[in-house]
Formats: sequence, C-alpha cells, structure tokens
Amino acid sequence: MIVVLKPNVAAEKQERLIDWLKSLSLNVNVSQGEFQTVLGLVGDTSTVDTSLLESLEIVDTVKRVTDPFKRANRKFHPEDTVIDVNGVKIGGGNFCIMAGPCSVEYEEQIIGIAKAVKASGAQILRGGAFKPRTSPYDFQGLKKEGLRLLSLAKKETGLPIISEVMNITDLPLFDDVDILQVGARNTQNFDLLKELGKVGKPILLKRGIAGTLKELLMSAEYIMSSGNEKVILCERGIRTYSDYMRNTLDLAAVPMLHELSHLPVIVDPSHATGIARMVTPMALAGTACGADGLEVEVHHDPEHALSDGAQSLRPKDFDTLVRKVTAIRNAIV
Ligand code: PEP
Ligand code: MN
Repeated sequence: MIVVLKPNVAAEKQERLIDWLKSLSLNVNVSQGEFQTVLGLVGDTSTVDTSLLESLEIVDTVKRVTDPFKRANRKFHPEDTVIDVNGVKIGGGNFCIMAGPCSVEYEEQIIGIAKAVKASGAQILRGGAFKPRTSPYDFQGLKKEGLRLLSLAKKETGLPIISEVMNITDLPLFDDVDILQVGARNTQNFDLLKELGKVGKPILLKRGIAGTLKELLMSAEYIMSSGNEKVILCERGIRTYSDYMRNTLDLAAVPMLHELSHLPVIVDPSHATGIARMVTPMALAGTACGADGLEVEVHHDPEHALSDGAQSLRPKDFDTLVRKVTAIRNAIV
C-alpha cells in the first residue's frame, strides 16, 4: 500500500503518522521527494482502514499496490535511486561504464587492462575471480588470488572494482570489492540474495538466463527486504531461439524496468551477444534506450583469454565504444 502525503506537511505530523503505521506491525518506507513524500507500507496491510487513512488532513491519496515487488517498485519510491560507489554515481541521470576482463588471469593482465579502460573513460573495473562455467573442465577463476590481483589494480588505478560472488561462504574474501555481482546463474539463489541483503555494498543483479522481469524484480526484492537497498539491475540477454548469438538482448527491458522500478538499470552487451563485433552496436542501442550504464568485457589478447575471449573487445575498440556511447549520451540527454 502507498500513502502519498500532501505537500509541505509538518515533520512532526508526518512522524506521528509513521509511528502509528509502525504500531500496526507495518514496515514504512519513506520516500522524500522534492515536492511530495510517499510512504510505502509493507506487511499485512489488510488491517489498515483505507478510508480512515484517506480522511487524515495530511494524506493526499492511498493506493493498494498489487505488484508482488514492493521495495523495488517505483510506486513506493517515485524518484530514481542513485547508487554511489566511492564517488562514482549510477542512476538518476548518472551514466557509468564498467569494463575489464571476464576473468582475472595474472598481474600484468589485470593491471594493464585496468589502466587502458580507465584511460578510455571506464569508471569501474570488472574482473571475475570466481567463474561460473558450464564445463567443470574449463578455467574456474583464480578465486582468492584473483581478488588480490583485482585489489592491486584498484590501488594502482583508483578505479572501484566489481566481481562476481557465487557462494555465501566466499563473502569474507570480498572485503575490498566495491560492487558484488550476482551472475545470471545465481539470480534465484535466494539464500545468497538474502545474505547480500545484510551487506552494506551495492549489488549488481543480473537477469537470469531465462528470467522474466518480474523474477528479476522479485530477486531484487529479496536483497532489499533483507536490508540492502543498493541494487543495480542488469539486462545481459536471455535464452531464446537466437541461433547465431549467445543470447537475445532484450532492450525493451530497459525502459520497462525503469517504469516498474526506481533502481538503476545497466546493459551488458558482451554476454548478451557473445561476439565482440556485436558489442559496440548493442552498447550504443542500450545507451540510446536509456540504460544507466554498461558492463563490457575487455581483454588485451582475446585469442588467449581464459574465458569469454570471443566477446571481449580489445582496448582500442573499447576506446571507440566509449567515444560513440558518449556521443549518444550527449544526443539524448
Ligand atoms: C560475467 O559477468 O562474467 C558473467 C558470468 O556474466 P553472466 O552471469 O551474465 O553470465
Ligand atoms: Mn564473461
């Protein structure tokens, strides 16, 4: 249920109303907009007398929200959420490019790529240390050592870092990681999501391999209802009958997610297509349809990459991508 207050309500009257709603065993999400305050009520609202609420002098409107996602819902929080990662902002008009290799491989690799993507304009460095691979015989990531090397690259370049966490028990190793990524294979690992709800760091939540938007938003809800509101949604392509590409990039998901939710939405054109030459066109399209950022795989030597070489851009091609993306941003905002 949402309760929209009239403009310029005295703080003490607002507090009294919130205290009363809390006494009904409801969680109250306060969204203080520039002009209006919206109270999002989560819990058993069947006991709330809607007409009594509506009759209060400070209340403008009361609406029952039937969507199963509440905290992620734009109706509960009309303004865009802006996530701050060590001074780098994502969402609400702030565009952010995350780039780096699929996997961290060795020191010169990650530091070299980090410097290159930073020089081109990336604001966050990506690198996988724990890799979810279809085959158990494929490279599984450097794990703890990979995170150590990623930290070195962070120290060297000043770029905040993002890396995928696959397992709750690995969480203590991620102390220096600025954004925790939940991969497409773990979007519905509910125990992991609940645990990430107790972490004070931003979470990048990828859409499941064949996940619906509602499922993605419900997964965000798991994290948020466990206490962590800093969720970034990521469209990374879904499994369809696409034959020549790894996945199908569902770009209409971007404006739809923006309509449904206040959370930032980014696009990953690398996993969406699986082919390096498709990455730049789809990054531009993702930017044009309103994404709040991109996550792009970059490798200095894609032929010898230990994972996802076929979809990795060389640094010089990433540089071109950033230039073109900047032109699109300038054209649409
Ligand atoms: C990745 O970012 O390297 C990755 C494994 O992505 P996804 O979970 O989208 O497949
Ligand atoms: Mn990858």
